[in-house]
Amino acid sequence: MAAQLLDGKVLSAQVEEELKIRVDALLAGGHRPGLCVILVGDDPASHLYVGNKEKACDRLGIASTTIRLPADTTQEDLEAEVRKANADPAIHGLLVQLPLPRHLDGAKALSLILPEKDADGIHDTNAGKLMRGEFGAVACTPKGALYMLKSAGIAIGGKNAVVVGRSNIVGKPMAMLLLHENATVTLCHSRTADLAWHTRNADILVAAIGQPRFIKADMVKEGAVVIDVGMNRVDGKFCGDVDFDAVRQKASYITPVPGGVGRMTIAMLMSNTVEAAERTFAKG
Ligand code: NDP
Repeated sequence: MAAQLLDGKVLSAQVEEELKIRVDALLAGGHRPGLCVILVGDDPASHLYVGNKEKACDRLGIASTTIRLPADTTQEDLEAEVRKANADPAIHGLLVQLPLPRHLDGAKALSLILPEKDADGIHDTNAGKLMRGEFGAVACTPKGALYMLKSAGIAIGGKNAVVVGRSNIVGKPMAMLLLHENATVTLCHSRTADLAWHTRNADILVAAIGQPRFIKADMVKEGAVVIDVGMNRVDGKFCGDVDFDAVRQKASYITPVPGGVGRMTIAMLMSNTVEAAERTFAKG
C-alpha cells in the first residue's frame, strides 16, 4: 500500500492558525511582531523564498521588512545593516538570506545577529543550546520536519533515525532534535561507507542531500517514515532528494516535494519570530 502523505500544505496551515491567535493576542496588547530579512543580490530562488516569507508575514499580521542590497555590497555594509536591525526595537526576528554572493563572509555576518533575534535558529549560540537540549530558536527546517513527525503521531523514541546530510542548517540540527526525542541517530554524509546499508536500517529516514531523487526504493526499509528535505530544480520543476514514486510504495509515511518540508520551514520561521516577539514583550 502506498505511504500516507505528510502534507506540508495542511500542516503549515495548522501552524499558521495557531500562530495567528498568538499574533492577535500581541496586537491586542499593542505589540506587533516584526521580521526583517536582509537579501543581497539577484539570486532568483532567494527572491522567491523571500517573497513567500513576506506573504506569510502578511497572512499573520507580522510586520515584514526586506532590506534589499546589491550583489556588490561590501562586508562592511552588510554588517552595518545587521547591526542596524539588531538595534531596531520593532524587529524581533532577523535573518540574512542565504546563499550570499561569494565575496561575502556569511558566517561572520550571521554571527553578528543577536541570538534572541535569530529567526533562522542557526546562530552559534542557538546551535550550542540545541546540543545541550536547551531550546532557544531552533533551525526552521528541522523544527518543521519534527513537527510533521509529531503531528502524525509517529513514535520516535527508540527508533533508528538516519539523517543523510550534515549541514549546519539542516542535517546536524535534525540529528540533534531526533536525539533529544530519544531516537538512535546515525548521521551520514558523502564520505559514509555503504550508505544504503545505513539507510536500509532506518525507521525514520531524513534526506537532506541536494541531489535529485538520490534515495532509491532499494535504499529504504519496508514501512519506513521518509522525510525529504531536498529542493532540487530539474527541467524547471522541483523535486526532492527521494525517488518519490518508487519510495512511496515502500514507506509508511512520506513528505512530497513540493508541498512538504519547504512549507513547514516558512511556518517555523514565523513561529520563531512570534516566539522572539513574545519573549521581548514579556520582558516589558
Ligand atoms: P548542503 O549542500 O549544505 O549539504 C548537503 C549534505 O549532503 C552534505 O553534508 C553532504 O556531505 C551530503 N551529501 C552530498 N552528496 C552526498 C552523497 N552522495 N551521499 C551522501 N551524502 C551526500 O545542503 P543543505 O543541507 O543546505 O540542503 C540539502 C537539501 O535540502 C538541498 O536540496 C536544499 O535545497 C534543501 N533545503 C530545503 C529546505 C526546505 O525548506 N525544504 C531548506 C534548506 C535546504 P558532505 O558534508 O560530506 O559534503
